[in-house]
Amino acid sequence: MEAKELEKKLFRPIKNGWQSIDEEERKNIFDFSKEYINFINKAKTERECVKEIVKILKANNFQNIEEKESLKAGDKVYYINREKNIYAAVIGEEDLSKGFNIIGAHIDSPRLDLKPNPLYESKELALFKTHYYGGIKKYQWVNIPLSMHGVVVTKDKKIEINIGEKEEEPVFTIADLLPHLAKKQEEKKLEEAIEGEDLNILVGSMPYAAEDIKEKVKLNILNILNQKYGITERDFVSSEIEFVPAMKAKNLGFDESLVAGYGQDDRVCAYTSLKALTKIDKVKQTAICLLADKEEIGSMGNTGMSSKVFEHFINELLEKTIGNKAGLIDKCLKNTKVLSADVTAGYNPNFPSIYEENNESYIGYGISIIKYTGSASKGGASDANAEFVGYVRNLFEKNNIAYQNSEMGKIGIGGGGTIAYILADRGSDVLDCGVPVLSMHSPYEITSKFDIYNAYKAYKVFYKGE
Ligand code: MN
Ligand code: MN
Repeated sequence: MEAKELEKKLFRPIKNGWQSIDEEERKNIFDFSKEYINFINKAKTERECVKEIVKILKANNFQNIEEKESLKAGDKVYYINREKNIYAAVIGEEDLSKGFNIIGAHIDSPRLDLKPNPLYESKELALFKTHYYGGIKKYQWVNIPLSMHGVVVTKDKKIEINIGEKEEEPVFTIADLLPHLAKKQEEKKLEEAIEGEDLNILVGSMPYAAEDIKEKVKLNILNILNQKYGITERDFVSSEIEFVPAMKAKNLGFDESLVAGYGQDDRVCAYTSLKALTKIDKVKQTAICLLADKEEIGSMGNTGMSSKVFEHFINELLEKTIGNKAGLIDKCLKNTKVLSADVTAGYNPNFPSIYEENNESYIGYGISIIKYTGSASKGGASDANAEFVGYVRNLFEKNNIAYQNSEMGKIGIGGGGTIAYILADRGSDVLDCGVPVLSMHSPYEITSKFDIYNAYKAYKVFYKGE
């Protein structure tokens, strides 16, 4: 055999995906990304994600599981957990004890949360104290437009707040030090130049017209909030207010091949896995899309992946199909296959030294399979079985899905985790499989439209299991 042929036969095929698609596929990719960009512009918090997702599900004939007495093959249902976490399923033809095909992503993203007593005044400027959520590089969050999203629970009602997304609305920002006076700051380590307690958001400067009050600007802000929402300072204690980048997600590059926008970790996998589920009508095994909250802070809490609410949903499915009995859920989960759909680091040419080029994910090379995450020792990784990785890659190859496989950076450079280990703990086969991202956890993350579309195609094939 000629060397060229031999190379083609024996080498791992790795290539830029854009080179092997036709005009029709290119159009599909761009159309899909346009809808995706709309989605991430509307869904900037986990609560907003759940709202948008329910709209999508309803438009595709999914029903709230609580409205159904019993379920049969082909039925489409969803379950909402506390407005922040949602599961959707298409019931399969096979006995549910044979397990499910699950794709799990998360819909929370790094951001700035308000502290319980956030508002203060300093030199006649009003500011909000924040407590950052998830692993951020703090210096990236100053001097960018921020919008305010969330809920405030008062004595007798729950108020929803969303300010800073519409063109006519004001935005907020954290004022960094000017370079002229930053000599000392610039000598600090990047990590210490902006500290957690420096992430104070400027929210106003106009004093309330009064003589005998000390904090007139603070009073003015509280008065505005009271008139608009009926809230007082104490109500912040029972609120969940998130400040997120107010920038809109957009096409990036002269060729518009990329998407830039906030919250793509992990809404890119959430959106693609959800859209894939809405295209499923008949499946052998029950297909489930689970969208978790709290992944960025360790998956704890009753809306995180560790919560028993997930098992409650599975029990509901069992009860309404084959009937539930002791031990059945364990059997189901042991027989279940899971893709942990979470983003991974794409190779960033600005920082070549941190990558081991043979084992990285590349932008535009398709969805990425990550056999194990974790840190230097593989610590914390569930490490998928070769058999299950084999099952998934064969499925992808059979269906012409553009996929690549990687680790994340050189050994010892850092590390990360996903929800994979939690489902693996319950006995399921789990593999991490998601879209490569540049500038992950920054206010403006970058993905490739080619990879997004291949994630959608890959997830569809996985739900079908053929
Ligand atoms: Mn993630
Ligand atoms: Mn993350």
